[in-house]
Amino acid sequence: MAILPFAIQIAGNMSQYWTETVHKLDPYIPGEQPQDQQYIKLNTNENPYPPSPQVIAAIDQFDMDRLKLYPDPESTVLRQELARHFDVGSDNIFMGNGSDEVLAHCFQAFFKHGKPLLFPDISYSFYPVYCGLYDISYQTIPLTSDFSININDYFIDNGGIIFPNPNAPTSRLLALDQIEVLCEKNASVVIVDEAYIDFGGESAIALTHRFDNLLVTQTFSKSRSLAGLRLGYAVGHADLIEGLNRIKNSFNSYPVDAIAQAAALASVKDQTYMSDCCDRIIKTRNDLTKALLKLGFEVLPSAANFIFVQHPQYSAESLYLSLKDRGVLVRYFNQPRIDNYLRITVGTDSEIATLITTLSHILD
Ligand SMILES: *Cc1c(COP(=O)(O)O)cnc(C)c1O
Repeated sequence: MAILPFAIQIAGNMSQYWTETVHKLDPYIPGEQPQDQQYIKLNTNENPYPPSPQVIAAIDQFDMDRLKLYPDPESTVLRQELARHFDVGSDNIFMGNGSDEVLAHCFQAFFKHGKPLLFPDISYSFYPVYCGLYDISYQTIPLTSDFSININDYFIDNGGIIFPNPNAPTSRLLALDQIEVLCEKNASVVIVDEAYIDFGGESAIALTHRFDNLLVTQTFSKSRSLAGLRLGYAVGHADLIEGLNRIKNSFNSYPVDAIAQAAALASVKDQTYMSDCCDRIIKTRNDLTKALLKLGFEVLPSAANFIFVQHPQYSAESLYLSLKDRGVLVRYFNQPRIDNYLRITVGTDSEIATLITTLSHILD
């Protein structure tokens, strides 16, 4: 057994036992989830409101004796309810343990071809990570100068296209008729990651009836206040769903636990609660935008539960640090093109009031 000096193993943060794949990985870094201090958390786009009372009741009433059994591997009842809600068939829906897991399966199922996968240069930072994990080549397409997606930039030979809509972290929405043209003209799979669609966009799910190369992913983490439960899904042509099932059943055939299935079912049945929460967040988002404009910030038009802002006189990094010092967490990305921007999650009215007061003090 070859023994590396202990200090080197720690310093280099690597092990001789790792495979080549692990050595080359460049993992995703989630937003801070501090466990020690009480922060106002406006940094990871969680919903500030609790889950629906129906969800809480479903978990309360769950027959714990059932935990001795494996869950339904197909999440049948939950998929039926989602199918009814979206006016598609059950065989058009794939359930996973968070949409991150669903996306990971999508990358493996659809994007490993000879040609590069395309996604925006400013986008969800998990996409390049999955490419590293599955050894998929990719090409980033620059957003326009106002941070929007121009679909004409995607009409090049490719092995697939993926983007969030609204985009993260820019919060900008791409219109449905543009997605339609993209699906029509593109020969490979197009994935629209709709993690934030309930906060002001129109879903592309209806288009999956017409385009067999379109797959839409959504999550219970944002608009349904269930980030801790880990649930996500994809909607698309039955052949795409079958591809995902083949990956799932070669990896973990029981990805969605029994309590999560029961809770998610209650959530889908209570649409009113979800849309009321979204309405409140949209209203707070508008108030927040107005208040920040008054403080001299530039705010991109948002269709999400977060906003993307910069101040012409203050560096985003110093604002981020000053806010953190004062107990308010927002997200700062030290990345080309966006290193003077802050992404701020829309919290409750009172959280946002504290943010605005704190910012006014800092800018003074
Ligand atoms: C939050 C988010 C997800 C992941 O959601 P989970 O279901 O919690 O895994 C996917 N895509 C984007 C763009 C997100 O912001």
